[in-house]
Amino acid sequence: MAWDTTVTLGKGDVVSNESLANLLREERRFAPPADLAANANVTAEAYERAKADRLGFWAEQARRLTWAAEPTETLDWSNPPFAKWFADGKLNVAYNCVDRHVENGLGDRVAIHFEGEPGDTRSVTYAELQREVSKAAHALTELGVRTGDRVAIYLPMIPETVVAMLACARIGAPHSVVFGGFSADALATRIEDADARVVITADGGYRRGKPSALKPAVDEALTRPGTENVGNVLVVRRTGQEVAWAEGRDVWWHELVDRQPEQHTPEAFDAEHPLFILYTSGTTGKPKGILHTTGGYLTQVSYTHHAVFDLKPESDVYWCTADVGWVTGHSYIVYGPLSNGATQVLYEGTPDTPHQGRWWEIVQKYGVTILYTAPTAIRACMKWGDDIPAKFDLSSLRILGSVGEPINPEAWVWYRKHIGADKTPVVDTWWQTETGGMMISPLPGVTETKPGSAQIPLPGISATVIDDDANEVPDGSGGYLVLTEPWPSMLRTIWGDDQRYLDTYWSRFANRYFAGDGAKKDDDGDIWLLGRVDDVMLVSGHNISTTEVESALVSHPKVAEAAVVGATDPQTTQAICAFVILRGGAAEEDGLVEELRAHVSKHLGPIAKPKRILPVAELPKTRSGKIMRRLLRDVAENRTLGDVTTLTDSSVMELIQSKLPSAASED
Ligand code: ATP
Ligand code: MG
Repeated sequence: MAWDTTVTLGKGDVVSNESLANLLREERRFAPPADLAANANVTAEAYERAKADRLGFWAEQARRLTWAAEPTETLDWSNPPFAKWFADGKLNVAYNCVDRHVENGLGDRVAIHFEGEPGDTRSVTYAELQREVSKAAHALTELGVRTGDRVAIYLPMIPETVVAMLACARIGAPHSVVFGGFSADALATRIEDADARVVITADGGYRRGKPSALKPAVDEALTRPGTENVGNVLVVRRTGQEVAWAEGRDVWWHELVDRQPEQHTPEAFDAEHPLFILYTSGTTGKPKGILHTTGGYLTQVSYTHHAVFDLKPESDVYWCTADVGWVTGHSYIVYGPLSNGATQVLYEGTPDTPHQGRWWEIVQKYGVTILYTAPTAIRACMKWGDDIPAKFDLSSLRILGSVGEPINPEAWVWYRKHIGADKTPVVDTWWQTETGGMMISPLPGVTETKPGSAQIPLPGISATVIDDDANEVPDGSGGYLVLTEPWPSMLRTIWGDDQRYLDTYWSRFANRYFAGDGAKKDDDGDIWLLGRVDDVMLVSGHNISTTEVESALVSHPKVAEAAVVGATDPQTTQAICAFVILRGGAAEEDGLVEELRAHVSKHLGPIAKPKRILPVAELPKTRSGKIMRRLLRDVAENRTLGDVTTLTDSSVMELIQSKLPSAASED
């Protein structure tokens, strides 16, 4: 195969990029299984239909929902980039996710198989969910929450979290879910920014085999200026641990919610009524309050969940391992699956508690058929060893999904082979908090998949790769990933800051949404994500993507995970610094660093050879499992660390810093 590629990323220079050619020399291809293709929910014809009439296609998908007033308009783009979708339609999201299934005779279907970390379990049917959501809606109303008021949710992964979100949706009170792992500070700034009236929390949740308190962070957050408008804290009892109690403010969930009526009449809201605010994970800086609304959002998450996972609600058992505190949990635990009447698993804890086979034990126990997780988790499982999943019966699985970061080809192949019995399609789904729903992904019954590529935009979605001058790059070249047409589940603005919305997403290129990610089209026109453009390294005049070097490192048998950053360097502008986690059993022996440098050089060319490689035990990650490269850059450049508030575990950074001077390899 001939590769004549140029890349324009970041700083605007055009260089020939032999490393790209190497990355894209991925010749493994996997056709959809014949039986899946024959019975797929969505076939190749959907692309044609959407191309011929994009808005008509989305209007048709909107009919998946039950509207109180059917929309007659599809898109109002008269004031770009402020979109209105289905603007004259009215609907209730909770009704669509719960009540209508019960009305259709599916009340006894399990909506949620809850698996607590200590091993306690609970199955919640759609009929039960309807009663719980109705009671919680009454409870919020009793606390004075009115349509339009914001409610902060700071809970572990328990059924009440789903109930709380749906109860908010039911009464038209936008929720702002904050990760249970965030500090009081992070919680306080989010409560303040959204001006929340009520906080829903728990005494604690179970993590890593013990109760982990949540309520103290709420108590502390509410002492901060800007949080005064919180009138009540509604507290779920999960762990039974001691909690401080503010009389008049704090209310137990079981005391307030349990005594409410089980029937509640859902009110229909405008399609553009705010559904939720969600703060981005903060990988690149101060979190932004992303605003999503009702009708367009639900249409796209419902459609994409149906199409990309080929969901057959009567027989599938779906499991998304994300935390509900990030957008994947919103769109693909709560709103997508429930609007489709899915049966799903909800797991509270960590994948290695009490043992590293916990996830696979859960797949076996519930007969999970569709699994959706993140590359970080897949790489952790690779690190723990192939023998662990091999002990469990994973034969129920038929589709595997990935989201959150570029998935290295090596991890993709491992996932398919060791989790998917070498036969399940892997769908690598590219999307963002801002896009609300999936945008670029294979379709499991249609696409011939390529490990490491998100491939093509979903039907009805327009995405492409452009250069600095906004010209579409030819196949085989790289540049900036942009979305060229509005889509139903797009963010409507940044909460309270329209200007930041314009500046962040719409100012770099006229009339195009700039996602912030670098990408490349291969010779077939398939899209490969290359990481954030802010992370692209400039080494001796060459632009090199972090993803490429990381994938080269992960393709070495001893490496499970890698994070690469460019550190300022007097000779080469930037020097490549790599932090690697070794696979289970691999020791940090002499000569390994040299071996890895040579391996990268062989795969990507000498220009991409890291100057320093540092084996580490852990990498700094957000709670959604993404590597925070900007912190590693701070370390590599000996700076004080930037904002660490969204980091899972800040001691990781101390560990890495303490290792730096001696263990780094230099020449
Ligand atoms: P912040 O915007 O605060 O820096 P974040 O971008 O990490 O945080 P998310 O919206 O959760 O927050 O993540 C979206 C980003 O994750 C995308 O822009 C992209 O960089 C990355 N991403 C998500 N899915 C994929 C994927 N399948 N392949 C490659 N990258 C992905
Ligand atoms: Mg982002």
